[in-house]
Amino acid sequence: MSFDARDRSRDLADVGIRPRVRIQTEPPHESANARNGTQQATAREVVFDIRNMSVHYGDNRALDATTLKIYRNLVTAVIGPSGCGKSTFIRSLNRMNDSVPGFRLGGQVLYHGHDVYGTAVNRVEVRRRIGIVFQRPNPFPKSIYDNVAWAPRNLGMKADLDAWVKQALRHAALWDEVQDRLRDSALSLSGGQQQRLCIARAIAIEPDVLLLDEPASALDPVATASIEDLMRALKSRYTIVVVTHNMQQAARVADHVAFFSLDQIGSGRVGTLIEYADAETIFRAPKDARTRDYVTGQFG
Ligand code: ADP
Repeated sequence: MSFDARDRSRDLADVGIRPRVRIQTEPPHESANARNGTQQATAREVVFDIRNMSVHYGDNRALDATTLKIYRNLVTAVIGPSGCGKSTFIRSLNRMNDSVPGFRLGGQVLYHGHDVYGTAVNRVEVRRRIGIVFQRPNPFPKSIYDNVAWAPRNLGMKADLDAWVKQALRHAALWDEVQDRLRDSALSLSGGQQQRLCIARAIAIEPDVLLLDEPASALDPVATASIEDLMRALKSRYTIVVVTHNMQQAARVADHVAFFSLDQIGSGRVGTLIEYADAETIFRAPKDARTRDYVTGQFG
């Protein structure tokens, strides 16, 4: 298999042209590993450098200027009460909001140093590198195989298609359950299996980043646990940003946590980043009283 969409040295405007990427690194950053004493003082690569990103839908300001960095091979959880802009935040990272009427983004989203909203940027290329999975499993009404093969086929990856499909299903921890029924309809799978299929579909073209928008909120506890296991397993290959309203889930899977809330700004309430830190800090020693109230269940 020669195709590698994770080659970050390629330009976002056209994968075929020469690299001009800057890999940004940061000083040692705390991760969830700190909890079990295995934290290593390694420089973390910055995947997203988000600078003063604000979002409007028409006249409604959904997100106040937000500045944070998202690091490679970590799970970054986005938490906060309903309506605080969690979905808006992650959907803005791969331009999923572009088609929303009235959507307007201020500031900058730098992805490996490239402005995701730059004029020369190819949106298809952005989506290829930054995949997204939604709350409700949404497999195509096609076979299990064709769901996973869909994106590779669209990208002309005809050779080794079976191998791509198998690899994606393995990485999504679904292969063992479906290897004998690849031609069955995806809709015959359980909800949890359908969601893992959607993850397999998203990773079939080896993106760099996986955005998960409340991926387990429509699932039962057993299926939820398997999605959480999957996040932990997949982070060695992908950078994961997950929206969740489930605090326990964030505590179980996240390395870093961004807590958003609704702040009174002028006459309206606007989604605002309140605190961003490693999961240990957010859940055990948050600096902001609003974070503490939220994670202890006293608010939201
Ligand atoms: P959360 O994910 O935290 O529940 P959202 O990002 O969905 O929050 O919503 C943040 C704000 O943006 C809300 O006021 C919501 O009504 C508004 N909003 C979200 N999506 C749209 C849209 N497609 N069109 C207009 N307003 C939207």
